[in-house]
Amino acid sequence: MTKQNWQNISQSTKAVWAGETEPFFEGCAQVPIVNSVSYSHDDMDHWFEVATGKRKGHIYSRNTNPTVQVFEEKMRVLEDAEAATSFSTGMAAISNTLFALLSPGQRVVSVKDTYGGTSFVFLEHLPRFGIEVSLCETNDIEAIKAEIKKGCDLLYLETPTNPTMKVLDLKKLIAAGKAQGAVVMVDNTFATPINQNPIEFGADLVVHSATKFIGGHSDAMGGIICGRADLVKQVYSFREINGAALDANSAYLLLRGLKTLKLRIDQQNSNAMALAEFLMNHKKVENVFYPGLESDPGHEVAKGQMKGFSGMLGFSLKGGFDDVRKLLPNLRFAHRAAHLGGVETIVGPPRTTSHVELNEAQRAELGIPESMVRCSVGIEDIEDIIEDFAQALDKI
Ligand SMILES: *Cc1c(COP(=O)(O)O)cnc(C)c1O
Repeated sequence: MTKQNWQNISQSTKAVWAGETEPFFEGCAQVPIVNSVSYSHDDMDHWFEVATGKRKGHIYSRNTNPTVQVFEEKMRVLEDAEAATSFSTGMAAISNTLFALLSPGQRVVSVKDTYGGTSFVFLEHLPRFGIEVSLCETNDIEAIKAEIKKGCDLLYLETPTNPTMKVLDLKKLIAAGKAQGAVVMVDNTFATPINQNPIEFGADLVVHSATKFIGGHSDAMGGIICGRADLVKQVYSFREINGAALDANSAYLLLRGLKTLKLRIDQQNSNAMALAEFLMNHKKVENVFYPGLESDPGHEVAKGQMKGFSGMLGFSLKGGFDDVRKLLPNLRFAHRAAHLGGVETIVGPPRTTSHVELNEAQRAELGIPESMVRCSVGIEDIEDIIEDFAQALDKI
């Protein structure tokens, strides 16, 4: 795939065309799903050149695959990155990147509110290899900056966070990390490349769970990192032998989902905003966590770095978990599931889903009330969504 110039081309056009402007095999107008494990070569010299990276082509699908490559190119262009490489899941992308780039004696700085799986790698696995991890209070920027100054080889950021939608100041924190010589990595899953582009603020690597908004249809898993070519190459060579390759069938579904990314995210941004406002004014609702609300503590920073406030929101109920128990089964148009980013509205209590391994005190420490519901707002008609929440809240 040649690196064409995508400057001045909008995200919606990139979502449709990036990676797909070159002709495919036999004139296919759509990306073919290449299920071949290997690729045969009649010319021994060509084969050698492909194997040594001097010629375009493929050898073995654990390394590269034509369908997967189109997905990587589309994501690279959407994040405006030098390079991209994909993985079987978002967690494979995160853990492979951390293990590929870090060595014993090095130090990672991050925050307490990272995605649960990431937090587990930080607390349980990196220390086993002699890598120090310091997790700071997410909304204390001075504490994070102070920890970076103590020494930082890798700064890991995630914003907005799961599930309380805390917002990290990307410009300030990336600058602090760079000043210390750290590699800066940002989990952009909640925002998507439509709402936020961390590379614009100097991030070295952006990671996504493609399982969520990127695919958008809750039917395929995948992960991707986009960023500096030297780092992506190092991560790719680790992933290649670690084996966490994205499958061609999943890559096809993710590509198909990506074509409507801009449409979906625009609708989800505006639906989430309207639902957040409705919930905020409801007498049974205690608190709403959504950076789009002017009253939200993250609003000002979010306004400066996000193009939209995302389709994710949280809310808590005045009547405790008993209210959650009554509310969720009464929603007509929502999956009650441990997932997010699909075209359908998806709800779940962090107590049962993302933060089930913590106890009540640990959840309280992260600012997660027991009566909290995380809501991934879908693309349904907003009047139907609000009507549905209204009738379910009435039944409490
Ligand atoms: C889901 C998620 C992940 C992990 O992705 P998987 O595809 O489930 O492995 C990482 N980060 C965030 C923010 C997520 O929501």
